[in-house]
Amino acid sequence: MQVLKFGGTSVGSADRIKHVAQLLMNGGRKLVVLSAVAGTTNALAEICRELYNGNKESLEPSIGQLAEQYENLTSELYTEESAKNAALELVSNYFNNIRAFGLDMFTPFEEKAILAHGELISTGLLQLYLEEINTESTLISALDFMRIDQRNEPDEWYIKTNLSRILNQTDSKIIITQGFICRNHFGEIDNLKRGGSDYSASIIGAAIHTDEIQIWTDIDGMHNNDPRLVSNTRPIERLTFDEAAELAYFGAKILHPSSILPARKANIPVVLKNTLDPEKKGTIISNESSGNSIKAVAAKDEITAIKIKSDRMLLAHGFLRKVFEVFERHAVAIDMITTSEVAVSLTIDTKEDISNLLEELEFYGQVEVDTDQCIICVVGHFLQSEPGHAAKIMDSLKTIPLRMISYGGSKNNVSFLIQKEDKAEALLALNRGLFDL
Ligand code: ADP
Ligand code: ASP
Ligand code: MG
Repeated sequence: MQVLKFGGTSVGSADRIKHVAQLLMNGGRKLVVLSAVAGTTNALAEICRELYNGNKESLEPSIGQLAEQYENLTSELYTEESAKNAALELVSNYFNNIRAFGLDMFTPFEEKAILAHGELISTGLLQLYLEEINTESTLISALDFMRIDQRNEPDEWYIKTNLSRILNQTDSKIIITQGFICRNHFGEIDNLKRGGSDYSASIIGAAIHTDEIQIWTDIDGMHNNDPRLVSNTRPIERLTFDEAAELAYFGAKILHPSSILPARKANIPVVLKNTLDPEKKGTIISNESSGNSIKAVAAKDEITAIKIKSDRMLLAHGFLRKVFEVFERHAVAIDMITTSEVAVSLTIDTKEDISNLLEELEFYGQVEVDTDQCIICVVGHFLQSEPGHAAKIMDSLKTIPLRMISYGGSKNNVSFLIQKEDKAEALLALNRGLFDL
């Protein structure tokens, strides 16, 4: 069985949904993982913000506006009156649910339940559309099999067992489920973080040992640079799992940061395809290497750099361990690290309040914090036996002020920390210097 994930833009309008339905007609048995219609999760997040702030007056207009978009989508998508009415009823039921969440206390539990509605609605609408065009399909709820454990990691055994059980109950050729949404270990509705449908597809693909995980989006694969900031970019035909994981983690929005991990573990190729241009090759991500070149660059924003400077670090055993233990106690992940004889600099990308963490660090030295930094990550296959890549990268970035440099952490990644305002210029400079674009 193939696993195909369609992102928000792929189901962003009635025409796009019809187009997805056409893509599902051909070939063998498929498990389709769907995102919410583009813009919906943002709109739901805004409704949640209003609920937290107790803005009761602006609430109904916001909910009403989103509901109206779905009423319009419904009237464009379906031709038959019965299908239209069924879709309107589905939309109206889900929006009544959303309204009901605003009546009482508003907590992260209600927030996650509201955020789940984008995927619940899009999958329901696709199934009704397939029904209208006489194509049999089965809708299965991700809330019945997708679960994360206490550490917010996918509960592999639970997912595999329950998904297999559910799939064995149907012989439909097209099975539809929601991306992004899951339950946590309390059984409450939760999610895999923004952009998480890619991650859902990869977890599902690994659970059922599919041959290939297809991620259908609005661009012809992973490009060598961020197309939102650089106009002259080109698709990459092949990436290894490691290269793709670095790019996803360091800001290539086309993939959720964790989405490569389950596929890599199960050694299942991930193929990135363009819904608008299905004939294009896209990008194949697998174990197969494709040369030792520099493949792509990506950028990750909202990075905070922390420097801990201490004379006590000089020749001291265990200094770094003590510093890292502070981050561990506060469950804050570190991305980049550089050290000197008297200081250690590292970066984090948390949006949480870190004042307690900083207070603890001050015990070990003088602490300096720089917010609004950006990590630029150059990805490829950098072998020690083939010198010259680092020089070429540094030369491209010669006019950009660099705060930190990380080389040698892995053979796939060279990273730089720069000021956020230099990001676009740095990406352009690398496009010219590394790719002649
Ligand atoms: P979907 O809704 O299908 O999940 P996303 O918006 O999450 O789509 O991801 C696709 C977008 O990712 C593209 O439209 C593109 O603007 C952006 N993007 C950022 N970096 C890259 C990259 N290196 N290659 C391709 N797309 C990228
Ligand atoms: N709908 C969710 C989001 O917008 C998940 C996804 O699109 O992958 O973040
Ligand atoms: Mg996405």
